[in-house]
Amino acid sequence: MRIGLIAHDNKKTLLVDFVECHQQQFAAHILYATGHTGQQIMTRTGLDVHCLLSGPMGGDQQMGSRIAEGAIDMLFFFRDPLFAHPHEPDVTALLRLSDVRGIPIATNPATADALVHLL
Ligand code: PGA
Repeated sequence: MRIGLIAHDNKKTLLVDFVECHQQQFAAHILYATGHTGQQIMTRTGLDVHCLLSGPMGGDQQMGSRIAEGAIDMLFFFRDPLFAHPHEPDVTALLRLSDVRGIPIATNPATADALVHLL
């Protein structure tokens, strides 16, 4: 599977911890991430991650484009619901495209725990 990984700044530790905890499952798949999220995952786990641009600089749009093309099968996007982001329109577009394509999305650890069993 081709898996997308994104975390807003306040949620990065949570996502990196999550990927590390399930490293064996993630290692069997092709990973894409926005820039800083991907760098942190690679540094912590050593997993091979295809890094896109940083989210606010267009990385969310790049991920959305891949989703639109059917090139992402599952998305882990740990959002920070308590903070306004300058790239909110990109986030909204990305989530809309995920629903257009009907791919599974985890926006918080509880859903991620459920989805990771599909890997
Ligand atoms: P980042 O982008 O991984 O480059 O920090 C995430 C985001 O804020 O969309």
